[in-house]
This record gives sequence, C-alpha cells and structure tokens, in this order.
Amino acid sequence: MTQTIPHPRHVPAATPTAGQPYEYHRRPLVEPDWTRFPGWRHVTRDQWESAQWQRVNCVKNIKQLRAVFGDLIDETFYADLEADQLALATMSMLVPPQMINTMVPFATLTTEALLADPIRRYMIPVASDRRTDWPSHPYASRDSLHEHDMWVAEGLTHRYPTKVLAELLSTCPQYCGHCTRMDLVGNSTPAVDKLKLTLKPVDRYDAHIAYLKAHPGVRDVVVSGGDVANVPWRNLESYLMRLLELETVRDIRLATKALMGLPQHWLQPDVVEGLERVARTAARRGVNLAIHTHVNHAQSLTPLVAKAAQTALDVGVRDVRNQGVLMRGVNATTPELLDLCFALQGEAGILPYYFYMCDMIPNAEHWRVPVWHAQQLQHDIMGYLPGYATPRIVCDVPFVGKRWVHMLTDYDRERGISYWTKNYRTSIESADLEALNKRYAYYDPIDTLPADGQQWWHDHRND
Ligand code: SF4
Repeated sequence: MTQTIPHPRHVPAATPTAGQPYEYHRRPLVEPDWTRFPGWRHVTRDQWESAQWQRVNCVKNIKQLRAVFGDLIDETFYADLEADQLALATMSMLVPPQMINTMVPFATLTTEALLADPIRRYMIPVASDRRTDWPSHPYASRDSLHEHDMWVAEGLTHRYPTKVLAELLSTCPQYCGHCTRMDLVGNSTPAVDKLKLTLKPVDRYDAHIAYLKAHPGVRDVVVSGGDVANVPWRNLESYLMRLLELETVRDIRLATKALMGLPQHWLQPDVVEGLERVARTAARRGVNLAIHTHVNHAQSLTPLVAKAAQTALDVGVRDVRNQGVLMRGVNATTPELLDLCFALQGEAGILPYYFYMCDMIPNAEHWRVPVWHAQQLQHDIMGYLPGYATPRIVCDVPFVGKRWVHMLTDYDRERGISYWTKNYRTSIESADLEALNKRYAYYDPIDTLPADGQQWWHDHRND
C-alpha cells in the first residue's frame, strides 16, 4: 500500500483537457448507515446520537474492530494492523463509531476498499502503509515542534510573542495516527513511551492563569490538549471563565477534533448550555471565542457534524474553523482538498482555515508531502472558494512556527531542504541575539527526491 506522490491535480500532464481542472457540484451531507456493519446492525438512532454510547463503543483494539466488521474483512488486514501496533504505531488505537462509520461510507465494505479508504489511512494505520526505505526522516523527532521545550508552566507552550498553547490534558476521544503531539498525547505504545503530565489538573490550571497574569503581553490562548472534549465540562467552563476574567486575553480558541469525531459530545444539553454561558460572557467582554476543529476529508462531514457546528454558532461562538493536516493517501490532491473545503464551507458551517503540512515525527514519511507539492496545491486551490474561505497551506517549521508554504527563503530541491526565517523569538531564545538572523531547515520526505538526492541521504544517513 505504499503510495507514490500523486500529481496535485490528478490530471496526467500530457493529457489536454477542456473545461475547468475542478468542477464544483453541491453535495448535501448524508449520514452513512451504521447498520451496514455487522456489529452495529441493531444500534438505534437514539443510541447512535448518544455521546455516552459513542464513548463506550469506541474501538480500542483489534478484537473490538473485528466485532464491528464481522467477516467482511480478511484476517490479512488484522495481521497487518497488529504488525503496525507492535512495532511502528506512535499512537494507540481509539476510534469512535462516528469516525468508523465514515470509512467506506457508500460502497461495499471489502478489505481492499478499507485499505484504500482515506479515513482508515490515518485513523487505523497498518504496517503496509508505511515506507520501508525511509519510514522516518533522519531529522524526525518525538516533539518535532519543541512544544515541551517551550513550556513555561506544565502544559503551557509559549512559542509566539502574543499567543500561548494551553494543553489542559493529554487525552482525546480519538487518537490520530499522525498526531504531532505523539510525545505526550494518548497511551504509550511499544514504539513510544509517552511523556506524562504530573501536576494535578487544578494545579496545572492555576499555573497557567498565574503565568498569564504575569505576562499581559499574551492576548491569545489556544485551549487544547489532547482534546478539550475530554475535560469534564465543569472544569473546562471554570478554566474558560478564569481566562475571561483576564482583561489582557482577547482571543480564545477551543481545539477539539471531537466536533467531527464525536459531535454527539458537543450536542449534549449540559455542554451546549455551558458553552452558551461562556460565549455570552466572551461577547460581553469583547473576547473572540472560536472553536478550531480538525477535519481531513470530506467523508468525515455528516449532518451530525454540521449540527454540532451550527449549535456552537447558535449559542454565540463567533466562528468554527478547520485546521486539517495534509497527508498523502488522505487529502493531498486538489480535488480532495476542494471537495473538503466546499463541504466545510457550504454544508457544515465550518471555515476552511489552515492545512498544516504533516510534522516530522517518527514513522510518518508515508504521509508527508514535500514543500513543492504543498506549494502546487496552494496554487491549484486558489480562485474556487470565497477568498476569506480559501485555506492557507502552512509549514510548521521547527523553532520557527507557522509559515505559508511560499515564504521559504531558499530551497535545495535535490536534497529536499527548505530554509526559513523568522521575525520573533520563541520563549527559549530570549537571549539569542542571532535567532532572527538564522535560517531554519525543514526536510522533504526522502522518497520524493530525485535519485541524486536520495543517494546523498543514503550516503549521509549516519552523519
Ligand atoms: S485529536 Fe489532535 S491531539 Fe488528539 S490525537 Fe488527534 S491530532 Fe492528536
């Protein structure tokens, strides 16, 4: 299943084509029929729409996955999955029924269809997905963005001058195979012994608030994890209300993939009522409160996801935005990105905001795309969506932060090394006089390089 990099347009370069490279067709959202899975044949709509039922029936291991798929999937698939879990996976398995139901949504479920499915490819990775030549880039690392190095209190990363990332907890209702926080988030796997948060949550939250009080120049807080959907609502509301008491905080973004992966959570009456209280307080104090979610493919958008987004907007959240991750075999072609963006913008009420290039974590090379490919995609999606809803494709450059993919200063295409600069110091460089004069490197996947470049890395792999 190793995938070569497709041409971004999916159009053979030599084939002359008439008309537009991409044709827009409105596609209303449809909830796939979960009773097509043998394990959920008798699940009722009330059960399906219950957050508690979804959480209890999350698939955490191969035995549970077998119980859902019955005899529709060959044993070879489970052997492939087990091989991945035993040696390669950086995330443990946790997939809500809602997400499994978006795999092979409208065709017959077969082993081949499941292997080729974009949601399966990043939520349930198997060993044969990964590259065997270069499974990891030589410069891949567990905490590739150095978020932990930039902690100013446990779970509080201060990387940009005016913004902080607050990791309230280290769990999510779903674990994504490509998670950039694989160092901290989720359970340990045979390949990765995870970092642990050690403070009690109440002490962690106190430390965050104390830091923000002492640093009035920080005006923007991304409240994340993990996923805030796993913070008991009362605790999350209390944290948010404490943030809203700080006059210096002007933007709050709640990071939750669960808006898509477990929309049932965000539709629970106590959560909706609590969100309304927070949104009202934010509006009264002139603070921009938004939800940021993480959808990677149009298949993931169902009427229930749209309802959860609309409900958040109805109770006063100012905006719901998407930050997807660009991945080979999932969404790294122009039609896949535009289909997703039109479904987000036109059907689900979610603003297509960013696509991040997949970070340089271990065993991720089969997902990552080179910078030139991301630049081509950015070029090819321009002009179809409203300007304000045309997402930016960004590279999160280690020690730098987000850069639009055309912002590089130099690019060695043969060795796949792009060079970037920055205009601010992170919290670990306050005394570094040279930080703003340096060039910082980002690396393309080696299998996408020309032969000479691949040979260079082969010759220098142990340098
Ligand atoms: S939801 Fe976000 S934090 Fe959680 S596993 Fe997925 S990418 Fe990582």
